Amino acid sequence: MARIDLQGLAHAYKPNPKSEQDFALKHLDHVWQDGGAYALLGPSGCGKTTLLNIISGLITPTEGRILFDGEDVTALPTQQRNIAQVFQFPVIYDTMTVYENLAFPLKNRKLPRAEIDARVREIAEMLELGDSLNRKARGLTADAKQKISLGRGLVRADTAAILFDEPLTVIDPHLKWLLRSQLKHLHRRFDFTMIYVTHDQTEALTFADKVVVMYEGEVVQVGTPEELFERPAHTFVGYFIGSPGMNILPATVEGNRARVGNHEIALQHSYRSLPSGTAKLEIGIRPEFLRIARGGEAGGVPAALQSVEDIGRYRIARARVADREVAVMCGEQEEVPADGLHIVFDPRRVNVYADGHRVEGE
Ligand code: ADP
Ligand code: MG
Repeated sequence: MARIDLQGLAHAYKPNPKSEQDFALKHLDHVWQDGGAYALLGPSGCGKTTLLNIISGLITPTEGRILFDGEDVTALPTQQRNIAQVFQFPVIYDTMTVYENLAFPLKNRKLPRAEIDARVREIAEMLELGDSLNRKARGLTADAKQKISLGRGLVRADTAAILFDEPLTVIDPHLKWLLRSQLKHLHRRFDFTMIYVTHDQTEALTFADKVVVMYEGEVVQVGTPEELFERPAHTFVGYFIGSPGMNILPATVEGNRARVGNHEIALQHSYRSLPSGTAKLEIGIRPEFLRIARGGEAGGVPAALQSVEDIGRYRIARARVADREVAVMCGEQEEVPADGLHIVFDPRRVNVYADGHRVEGE
């Protein structure tokens, strides 16, 4: 197992990249701690697969270095990096049995046969493949094939890290849940460094100790699921995580007040050192931290109600504030007036963003 250090990584698929747009990875510094369970979360096309392939050595980055436990491996070929990688679609040997497939990654490691056998059987049990060990992979379902693929990644206990690239995409939903909890269990047992790529926030949040959020070729936040929820470092994180995501409103900010259209919104902190000039300023607040003003209550921002959606234990009211739609989470029984609606912003929960990045108040 290893600590993986990425220093100044950038990657362009094009030769002679000229502008920022030519880079699939823009500039990336990140440390994956030894034994950490990480989710790498981001929308399709943001560079997740490119990053995994750079770590495993399938791609040589245009710029930057990769260190495993302090040793520079940037120039090392894949086979010498001791990384297990599980891809979105199964990579297995169709003509081999399930047992042979699982044992294969252990074969050229000169392990005693009994040890190989024990590990293969343990992994097969965990993935519920125990009954098919002697069957040829060819005849099995897509789910079973992907389980074999997962097993092949997990069977070696001594890898520097295991990289999973959306491995459950092709798996049946009810099986997904089981496999996720098995992976979590295996991680606890063997303590490997695990990077699990997904574009599904639920998957990322239930799975990982730390979530690394990527957006347009950059890491925009690294945090626990709570941190991503409470203090999104980038408007994208606020919008992508949570359901519905964070409300984002164009604003001007002066001291401890924000102005949205004609409305003033109080802030907990003062923002005297905002980037000057052309930065795009926005405020962000989650639907959970907005509420409907009670009759006669002062201090709310006037809003035009658009719709109320019932989503089980609570409801989402959508209303327009200064030309933008805002979502407010309301209780099941709470009254949502169609006329004269006012929305109360919790000053402690309003984040200020300049060009997408969160600004710390004073
Ligand atoms: P993700 O895995 O997050 O969906 P990728 O790493 O696959 O993102 O892709 C990042 C960007 O790089 C995308 O714009 C994609 O079109 C581009 N890209 C990926 N692979 C190649 C390739 N082999 N050649 C050229 N461009 C690529
Ligand atoms: Mg991908």
